[in-house]
Amino acid sequence: MIVVMKHDAADQTIRDVVSRIESDGYQAHLSQGAAYTIIGVVGESPTPLRQENYSSMEGVEKVVRISESYKLANRTFHPADTKINIGGVIIGDNPIAIIGGPCSVESREQIIETAWAVKEAGGVALRGGAYKPRTSPYSFQGHAENGLKWLAEAREQTGLPIVTEVMDAAQLPIITQYADVLQVGARNMQNFTLLSAVGQTELPVLLKRGMSATIKEMLMSAEYILAQGNRNVMMCERGIRTFETETRNTSDINAIPVLKEKTHLPVVFDPSHATGKWEYVEALALAGIAAGADALIIEVHLNPEQAMSDGRQSLTPKKFQQLVERVQRIAEAVNRTVLTPAPVPTSGD
Ligand code: PEP
Ligand code: MN
Repeated sequence: MIVVMKHDAADQTIRDVVSRIESDGYQAHLSQGAAYTIIGVVGESPTPLRQENYSSMEGVEKVVRISESYKLANRTFHPADTKINIGGVIIGDNPIAIIGGPCSVESREQIIETAWAVKEAGGVALRGGAYKPRTSPYSFQGHAENGLKWLAEAREQTGLPIVTEVMDAAQLPIITQYADVLQVGARNMQNFTLLSAVGQTELPVLLKRGMSATIKEMLMSAEYILAQGNRNVMMCERGIRTFETETRNTSDINAIPVLKEKTHLPVVFDPSHATGKWEYVEALALAGIAAGADALIIEVHLNPEQAMSDGRQSLTPKKFQQLVERVQRIAEAVNRTVLTPAPVPTSGD
């Protein structure tokens, strides 16, 4: 249920509604926009919520029931777009953010050189996995904490914030020391203990869609994180499993406008995993931006043929730069701009 306050409601009337919600045994979540105040009611209580009791309170414009089971992620609850600050880069505002980097952090030199190449091409954040969810236990599993240290060094040199995957709650004490964004991968989208654990951190979370998850299930997974108090969740469409075999996954472009309508959380598109083949990555990146994505996350490798994971779908820095230029043109057509990288940090800053 949400309680929409009148635009001129006095602060005391807002406090009264919040107290009433709490005394009924629920939690109140305040969303204050320039023109409105909305109070969301969540939680469970033996006291039934009586809509009419709330609608008769002073300062209340109307009371609306939310039929969907996701509340905090729901746009009805929070009409304004959520903007997330990842190390100085804002995601969810008009300017589109392009995140680039390798699937895996392979060495110190590789990640630093790639970070510079991503930045020179127009990327505003660096991705790279130090803990990799691989289908085979015999495949490269990532450099773990060394990989995180190298990512942090790349950030120190280039100023690019870093996005890196957490596979297990036990890794959080280490990863949170280095990351700017915690990525929850497709394979863990419904790992509810991990979702709750990242919800207890203060770091922004990039939540990737499970390979066979519905949009509603993805929204419920975001709700797990939000319910723990972490409000900085980005929804990432990365393709779903279908009967099609020409591409690794099938890009669900539909999910982008659907998510934009249903939630206030920023929507990120990953055309690399969605297609699995570098030849198609740019076309889908452009489609994702045309459909309303707030950011792109793209795999970039200095030498894709030598990559330790996902080389087949990785762009060279040159192709990544071309993608950035073309995204700028599509962004213009949909009245958006593209963020440009901040100047290189100078020592002493
Ligand atoms: C990745 O980003 O490298 C990755 C493993 O992605 P996903 O979880 O979407 O498969
Ligand atoms: Mn990958």
